[in-house]
Amino acid sequence: MITKVIGDESIQQVKEIIAGNERFVIVAHISPDGDAVGSTQGMAQFLGEWGKEATVVYNDSVSDNLKWIPGVKGSLIYEETPEEALEAIEQADVIFCMDFNIHKRMGKIADAVVQSRALRVMIDHHLCPGDFCDVVISHPEISSTSELLYRLIRQMGETKRIDERGATAIYTGMMTDTGAFTYNSSNPQIYMIIAELLKKGIDKDKIYDRVFNTFTENRERLMGYTINKKMRLFKEYNAAMISLTSEELKSFDYKKGDSEGFVNIPLSVKGVVFSAFFRQDEEYVKVSLRSKGNFPANKVSEQYFNGGGHKNAAGGEFFGTIEEAERLFEEILPLFSKYLED
Ligand code: 5GP
Ligand code: MN
Repeated sequence: MITKVIGDESIQQVKEIIAGNERFVIVAHISPDGDAVGSTQGMAQFLGEWGKEATVVYNDSVSDNLKWIPGVKGSLIYEETPEEALEAIEQADVIFCMDFNIHKRMGKIADAVVQSRALRVMIDHHLCPGDFCDVVISHPEISSTSELLYRLIRQMGETKRIDERGATAIYTGMMTDTGAFTYNSSNPQIYMIIAELLKKGIDKDKIYDRVFNTFTENRERLMGYTINKKMRLFKEYNAAMISLTSEELKSFDYKKGDSEGFVNIPLSVKGVVFSAFFRQDEEYVKVSLRSKGNFPANKVSEQYFNGGGHKNAAGGEFFGTIEEAERLFEEILPLFSKYLED
């Protein structure tokens, strides 16, 4: 059985909000990942089927391996057409905030969303939801926002409104946030939901192929270089670190999304339970952290890297040079050594 995780009151509220309004905007976090894109497009398809006007607004562009997700092409991107994006936000009756917990994660559209007269509804699975929304559906125990969206629609008794396109988007989000069901994915109900999505006609093998097997030659070579030359193991701490400077990225003609998944690579080395990836961006060093078991990657991110996230997958920003970020990482390891056991 697929249990009801969302309270009846919230279900009723969302139902009334959808029934009683016409113009919907759906937003996600900056650099939208598979779950952000999957949950926003799943929601857009669902609302469209209900006869509502639903516009997805992203802060910045969707990476190439997610652009095929049904609905992405019709979405607005603030960095490309800021006026149109802000206009949609301004005109909205309701804004669904998917897959993030604090307003800062929306990037440059944050102010417009927070100042808008629209009703804001958060649907998310990160810890510690902020207070910028009128309705908050926050379930950190659910492994993806896309799964939570499916549960929400199911509890509303409205799964008939999900078509193959929406099901494809939702499945993509569930798949990407669990590393293709290799972590955070032992709840049997996940597979019951997948069974229902399969009945909507999704092609799960094709979805996997489109998300994970679409890299460019440059990306594969960058990955080889990164593993060979830039992966440092700290065996006494069961930890590993990778960093890439802007010069290195440039020499492989780096495109957004090319380093996706690099942070996970060291976790396949026997014994490694904590992995960090530092990538030099224009204004800061982007930090990605991954861990296994009890190691709290989100604590490291919150305390040292202006970020947050989940226990096993977190991220943030470091304002300094990449060498300083590396040094800080080495200083942090002994402080967290009690968790660093494989
Ligand atoms: P990634 O390493 O894929 O960028 O991020 C992994 C997870 O860490 C995300 O799903 C998100 O929960 C969290 N995260 C990443 N970057 C940030 C950040 O800058 N701030 C916060 N609060 N969380 C982040
Ligand atoms: Mn997510």
